[in-house]
Amino acid sequence: MIERRPSRGLMVGAVPVGGGAPITVQSMTTTKTADVDGTLAQVYALKGAGADIVRITCNDVAAAQGLAEIVPRSPVPIIADIHFQHRLALAALEAGVHGLRLNPGNIRDPEHVKAVARAAAERHVSIRVGVNAGSLDKELLDRFGGPVPEALVASALREIGYLEAVGFSDIKVSVKHSHVPSMVESYRLLASQVPYPLHLGVTEAGPPPAGLIKSVAGIATLLMEGIGDTIRFSLTADPVEEAEAGRKLLEQLGLRERSGLDLIACPSCGRAEIDVVAVAAEAQRRLEAERIPIQVAVMGCVVNGPGEAREADLGIAAGRGKGHLFIKGNVIRVVPEAEMVDALVDEARRLAVEGVAARLAAADGLAGQLAEEAAAELLALQGDANHARERRARVADVARGA
Ligand code: SF4
Repeated sequence: MIERRPSRGLMVGAVPVGGGAPITVQSMTTTKTADVDGTLAQVYALKGAGADIVRITCNDVAAAQGLAEIVPRSPVPIIADIHFQHRLALAALEAGVHGLRLNPGNIRDPEHVKAVARAAAERHVSIRVGVNAGSLDKELLDRFGGPVPEALVASALREIGYLEAVGFSDIKVSVKHSHVPSMVESYRLLASQVPYPLHLGVTEAGPPPAGLIKSVAGIATLLMEGIGDTIRFSLTADPVEEAEAGRKLLEQLGLRERSGLDLIACPSCGRAEIDVVAVAAEAQRRLEAERIPIQVAVMGCVVNGPGEAREADLGIAAGRGKGHLFIKGNVIRVVPEAEMVDALVDEARRLAVEGVAARLAAADGLAGQLAEEAAAELLALQGDANHARERRARVADVARGA
């Protein structure tokens, strides 16, 4: 159980952030904001992929006007991303956005920041102080000798000071860095100095898989320490991938309930009776479309499969030309190899409606026996790759002093 750092709560539209609220997933659109229909289509896709909040750039007047049409039609709260021009923050507020992200590195006049804070307070809109190592104020870069964690935190604290000076406290903070250890250190430092909710991210992480690995390394490290209230994967990819990755990370850490499929599969080995990679990929594609919150296992052989995946709600293990369908490690049905994925999808639907106990009760009584026979047949054919029997015998000899 992760003990979370206490943080002050705020609302982004109807979504709570901080104050013990569930950790939220954010992503950002890549369309031109002036393209209202295109941007809205992406916002809907991001929501479908697991985003709770979506950020949209507000980089010119046409973008701000686009926001005025997008926000009322959006299924999730919208945050306007603001750089350089504080007037665009005021315009985004007028467009009805639920949150602002200000970059302290390029909106430098304290009076401009304070003017935005006053206007945001009137509308009960929160502000993220979004520090980025790549666009840090030159004066701080010179003072600290580079974008070190202390410089990022100093930038955040200075901007927070401007907001607090006008009584504004609906603040979120991020100190993103593209270098994972520096990102982790920056957030640790910040977490010890402010009461505000923190938005986690590794900036400019790049394309998957390296971008995913960097993001998970930084974000998961902090989440496991209890630091972080909302997250964003910054991938050079379709933003739907960002939202899916963020959602899956939170589910795997037990910080959000599983909303869909968790597919586990053995890595395959010489004992596999099927192309595990292909079957797992097809199972993933078809089961994800079902949107059933279920853990499903695809195992390459019936010798070890059902036992190793006994925690899975549902699974299939290959025997010679057959698939052994199992629920919680109990084989319930044997199907032809070509029908393995069909059987998984069919059983997943039934499990979702009827539950584990009913489906086990309805199991084919012969299936367990068939699985044992198939395992014995495979062992006879392939031998015991782990040499388990000989090892057990030797261990017993040693224990007896033989
Ligand atoms: S389940 Fe079977 S095929 Fe898959 S890794 Fe284990 S022994 Fe190999």
